[in-house]
Amino acid sequence: MQLSLLQGVLKTVRAGIIVIDPDQRIVMWNQWMEQHSLLPSADIQGKAFCDVFPGMADGRTHVAILAALENNFASLLSQTLNKAPFPLYANSADAANAVRMQQAVHVMPLEITGLPRHCVVQITDVSMAVAREKKLRDLATELESQTLVDGLTGIANRRRFDLHLDDEFRRAKRNATPLSLIMIDVDYFKDYNDNYGHQHGDQCLAQIASALGGVLHRACDLVARYGGEEFTVVLPETNEDGAMRIAEAMRAEIEGLNIEHAYSGVAKFVTVSLGVSTVVPEHTAKTGSLIHAADRALYQAKRSGRNCVVMYSDSRKKADQV
Ligand code: GH3
Ligand code: MG
Ligand code: MG
Repeated sequence: MQLSLLQGVLKTVRAGIIVIDPDQRIVMWNQWMEQHSLLPSADIQGKAFCDVFPGMADGRTHVAILAALENNFASLLSQTLNKAPFPLYANSADAANAVRMQQAVHVMPLEITGLPRHCVVQITDVSMAVAREKKLRDLATELESQTLVDGLTGIANRRRFDLHLDDEFRRAKRNATPLSLIMIDVDYFKDYNDNYGHQHGDQCLAQIASALGGVLHRACDLVARYGGEEFTVVLPETNEDGAMRIAEAMRAEIEGLNIEHAYSGVAKFVTVSLGVSTVVPEHTAKTGSLIHAADRALYQAKRSGRNCVVMYSDSRKKADQV
């Protein structure tokens, strides 16, 4: 009675059960295994594990089986490392396309009085859980890509900057008004991180972001984190003089924070270099050229000794002389 109940359970259970004897031969292969491997139990019984699955010899599952048989060791094979160790398929279409089921594999020693130690391998289908997890991860990534705020500094992120610059560029074209852009890069920041640690580096970036924001007063001005230790400022209806004044105020503001930086090549405190560009955009002009110009000016500011502001036209003249 008990035996037939047990056989019934093995047949009904929605998990693969393999029992392996001390000689690594398969002595039990339940119906779930037959169904999903397309290998009938009669063909498997008594065969060595590595003969049935030559591709798994010395792999993680095989090593776990040996550890169970020889050392009485149980293992759970991590799903992230071994997505689908056994050639098992959810249905015949997947089998035809060789798309394996995602598996969680437990390998356990089996101690029964009067018998040498065996090993039980239990396999469950985790495809649904994995798919759900992937969906959640994709959603999180999508949500993240839709946010407009930089997580570290709390100011506008790159996406918000791109959108804002596009809007203001179009407005400047329509109204034939000047639009200025400042690119800002922290000086010797790698040395800051290397010496004070990444966490202090992060705090420093947050402090800089908030100080830069403090310099701006008009609602359409925007300071954003461009990436890493680079910031950018959009200044609509601002000509070269106005933009240079704001850039210089920003430079002085950051210097005035007096954040110690004993490893900077330019000062005892954290400083920034700034590149400024201004355009009254032509009908066909693109935002890329404004960014590129500010970037060139920033490069020139770095070459001119850092902790300074360079306007694009200046930088072009200097670059032409080189
Ligand atoms: P330069 O004066 O020429 O700008 O030198 P630099 O060391 O600032 O420039 P580099 O581009 O070589 O290094 C930038 C460093 O900024 C690299 C990295 O350690 C640091 N960094 C970038 N993003 C982050 C961040 O989010 N947090 C922290 N803590 N550090 C960052
Ligand atoms: Mg940089
Ligand atoms: Mg830098």
